[in-house]
Amino acid sequence: MAVILQSLPQEAALTKIEYEGPRIALYSRNPTYLTQNSQLVSNMVNTIKKRIVIRTDETIRKPQPESSRIIEDAIPKDVGISGTFFDPVLGEATVFVRKPWMLAQVGDEFDNLELAEKTGWKVRVRKAPRDLSTVASMYRILSETATERTRFFREVGDKIFRDPLIESAEASLMTLGGFAEIGRSCALLSTPESRVLLDCGINPSAKDSLTALPRFDVAGINSDEIDAVVLTHAHIDHTGFLPALFKYGYKGPVYCTEPTMLLMGLLQRDYAARTGSTALYSDKDIDDAIMHTITLTSGIVTDISPDVKLVLYNAGHILGSTSIHLHIGNGNHNLVYTGDFKFGRTLSLENASWNFPRVETMIIESTYGGKEDILPRPEEAEAALANLISSTVSAGGHVLLPVPTVGISQELILVLDRFLKEGKIPPAKVLVEKIVSEATSVYEAYPEFLSRGLREQILSSEGTPFGSSDRFMIVDADALGSEPSIILAPSSMLIGGPSVRYLEQIAGNQNNRLVLLSYQAPETPGRAIQDGSRRITVNGREIELVCRVDKLDGFASHSNYDQLMQYVLRLRPKLRRVLVNHGERSKAQNLASSINKMFKIQTQHPLVQEAIKLL
Ligand SMILES: [Zn+2]
Repeated sequence: MAVILQSLPQEAALTKIEYEGPRIALYSRNPTYLTQNSQLVSNMVNTIKKRIVIRTDETIRKPQPESSRIIEDAIPKDVGISGTFFDPVLGEATVFVRKPWMLAQVGDEFDNLELAEKTGWKVRVRKAPRDLSTVASMYRILSETATERTRFFREVGDKIFRDPLIESAEASLMTLGGFAEIGRSCALLSTPESRVLLDCGINPSAKDSLTALPRFDVAGINSDEIDAVVLTHAHIDHTGFLPALFKYGYKGPVYCTEPTMLLMGLLQRDYAARTGSTALYSDKDIDDAIMHTITLTSGIVTDISPDVKLVLYNAGHILGSTSIHLHIGNGNHNLVYTGDFKFGRTLSLENASWNFPRVETMIIESTYGGKEDILPRPEEAEAALANLISSTVSAGGHVLLPVPTVGISQELILVLDRFLKEGKIPPAKVLVEKIVSEATSVYEAYPEFLSRGLREQILSSEGTPFGSSDRFMIVDADALGSEPSIILAPSSMLIGGPSVRYLEQIAGNQNNRLVLLSYQAPETPGRAIQDGSRRITVNGREIELVCRVDKLDGFASHSNYDQLMQYVLRLRPKLRRVLVNHGERSKAQNLASSINKMFKIQTQHPLVQEAIKLL
């Protein structure tokens, strides 16, 4: 505090200095001065080695309706404001516009200094997605919990920046879920000072809670003894248990990217709704998780406890997905948890980052860790899909593509849009299930997380690359008409949800076609079909498949075997140990032995309920 006060002149009009979770917030009545003299702030950051953010003092913030009016008057009509949302805790107003390229922007801190001066709010300008409802519901939660969040941010800061009690560095990892299996990803990192949870998922296709939920019972800690939760990405097998953690007493922070926060809320609500009366948690618990989420920008070092620093890196798997880099103690140990990652470009995302400064231990996923898991190249997979669709649609049939809500769905929307434009398939209707469309809106709202090409396309034009053709229609588990169609609906493994209702409608006719495009977990109806069964039972109802069935790899949002090996090869720092997780036992074992043989690194493929000493 002394350094900050000494470095700032009177003009900075500093009113208070507060913790804002892992950051230090400087409140000012003249934020323009600090923004224009950004060198002052960078010098401070270099001296105190902590993140600093500039906030407008509450006393200069105009009431929200008045600020909205000022913003509407200042932004030319042509730019088209779709909505303005306020976060009173951060003093930020986010303005969603249809033509952002018409506005000059300042950059990260304040997009528009003039508007900040007039309203007293830090104004962020963003491109509006087609549907603002998911964004709006997030801001509603953030706004309604403003008082609690302010207090929460201060308490988190107090805990992170307390002096360490113990000098010696130690670290161990306990596997609670997602080891030698896929689903319920969760691991607990313990040091003498802190306990950090890495992901907090469930296995939605498991038959009982002993295999569906992370094994907190063997971890020997209460949920209020955890200091932080870090999430790699929004998929339910990585975040599905989080609201239950809050229900049972966790009150600490959750760290992830901003798109992950939005997408996990969407997926958790859908999961709770689908499990109905047996739901693990309520909407209130989901809101509670969102309220405690602190979003981070990739590539920035953040203190999350007295002895753990966190950096998130792009993982290329779904929007907002990251690999987690943890720096433990005073440079004593560096752990990377890859999460689900794609080491290879997809249509929507950039390749996973691999350029870590130091890594001693790596936890790597192995969904496609088997030697046989060499997937076809994207061009081959696309050509095969176009053929399957064309032949079915020409014969008057429907094509059902069971997909996860987030990930392959958005890739397929891009592919189908191109097929239609280039005439590679007949002009059939593409029916996109409502929740898939809502998730796609989050993709549209965060172009900075997309591949460079898509980002430029979204920011420089009014339309969207995600389904620009008028053949795309949003549906809600509707009855299919007689006109041929291509249907995108979750769940991807046919364990329930709209894809099953569509399957019931198309299964009885051999003119129709089911195409499995994503990973099918053991003991799911999707896996049974993939393995040759043509009679499945879902939620007690039997479906007989007379329709055609195909399996198409190549659209995977996970690295295939070669990409997993390439990734380890590319890592610059010398690894000391690799722990393989997130794969069926035989795949995890195969990847562990391949990495060991090829790179002469110690590898393990632990089961759930193991404790591993890292340091
Ligand atoms: Zn995933």
